[in-house]
Amino acid sequence: MTELWTVEVDTSVCVGSGLCAANAPECFSLDTSGRARPPEAPVVAADEVLEAAENCPATAITLRKATGGEEIFVP
Ligand code: SF4
Repeated sequence: MTELWTVEVDTSVCVGSGLCAANAPECFSLDTSGRARPPEAPVVAADEVLEAAENCPATAITLRKATGGEEIFVP
């Protein structure tokens, strides 16, 4: 069964680097203020999404399992 993750971005610390949108464009986009906007619905678990969270320079991205809420990546 495909694992789904919820994606959160702490926009109070996002510095608008755009790295997440560049590395996982199917998951992240930038809003008009240049801050990252996560998908509203859970996404399919993928290495590029995890790497985007790990490489965020502002440690703004949190990933959890959509079912049960288990932490995948919490900065
Ligand atoms: S990588 Fe981090 S700091 Fe850069 S736009 Fe994405 S959430 Fe914001």
